Amino acid sequence: MKCRMCGQKAVVNMRQHKLALCKEHYLEWIPAQVERFITKYSMFTHEEKILVAVSGGKDSLSLWDILTRLGYQADGLYLCLGIDEGLHYSSESQRLTEKFAVARGLKLHVVNIQQETGATIPELAHTSLRGRGKPCSVCGLVKRHELNRVARDVGYDVLATGHNLDDEAAVLFGNTLTWSVEYLLRQGPVLPGTSGLARKVKPLCRIYEREMLAYALLRGIEYIYEECPFAEGATSIYHKELLNRMEHDHPGAKLTFYLSFLEARRSGFFSGEHEIRQELHACPKCGQPTSAPGLCSFCRMVEKRKETTAGVSDPSGKRC
Ligand code: SF4
Ligand code: ZN
Repeated sequence: MKCRMCGQKAVVNMRQHKLALCKEHYLEWIPAQVERFITKYSMFTHEEKILVAVSGGKDSLSLWDILTRLGYQADGLYLCLGIDEGLHYSSESQRLTEKFAVARGLKLHVVNIQQETGATIPELAHTSLRGRGKPCSVCGLVKRHELNRVARDVGYDVLATGHNLDDEAAVLFGNTLTWSVEYLLRQGPVLPGTSGLARKVKPLCRIYEREMLAYALLRGIEYIYEECPFAEGATSIYHKELLNRMEHDHPGAKLTFYLSFLEARRSGFFSGEHEIRQELHACPKCGQPTSAPGLCSFCRMVEKRKETTAGVSDPSGKRC
């Protein structure tokens, strides 16, 4: 297989694009694709300040690498979740993220959830009614709240996450199975900002997971290979496996699914009576917009944790 650009030996063959490239041209092609999607979906400009949510994984570190190579003003934000039993997932992902930032002279914000809330994600999940003890729902709530808080407090224009096409297609698949119109309306490359809520963008939303993996490996980015231990058995992983089977038999199926959805939404398929009309007000504790009466969900969860553990000393000694 030869590189379409130069005829040298190709190292990546993308059946879904009918395109094979050598290392040099692949490392040029991915950033060019990302730049194309940033422009196409009006994500941000070179004048705006971008906050990249980095987890230590291949997608978010590669996104940060690509944005800085493209000349954007992109700083990183790492949230230490305190998930450290067994594999030391949080400690290791923080170490790799900090190493990445230091090696490139990039600015990284680190927020320790235990210091912010008094508890790690597994501890918060323990005292929350969300997710019946499984931490992912609590984790999602905390991430949304803290990413938005830092973007607002430090003055970033936009929050960028490393969701790739496989992530987006799996979420879309799940929401389509249940016709969750409210979620479908909010899914897309850009979620516009509102007062108090930062604009959210996904510059990798049209790049396959295996394309990002190839980029990280060929670029020599050191990232955490292990998944979060709580990811095991997640429905989204099951949906990814189903979509992978479709993709294997019909290269390009995932991309077609996602792009057809965007086109259907653009042409008004989900509009009308399903438009989101939520009244938001500022949470009296943290000031972030919320539709809940009184405190926002994040502040209510932290308050509940404090009430439940009042008088109990915390024996944990997490590193990060
Ligand atoms: Fe958080 Fe769940 Fe993801 Fe782990 S798998 S980082 S707990 S959302
Ligand atoms: Zn709040």
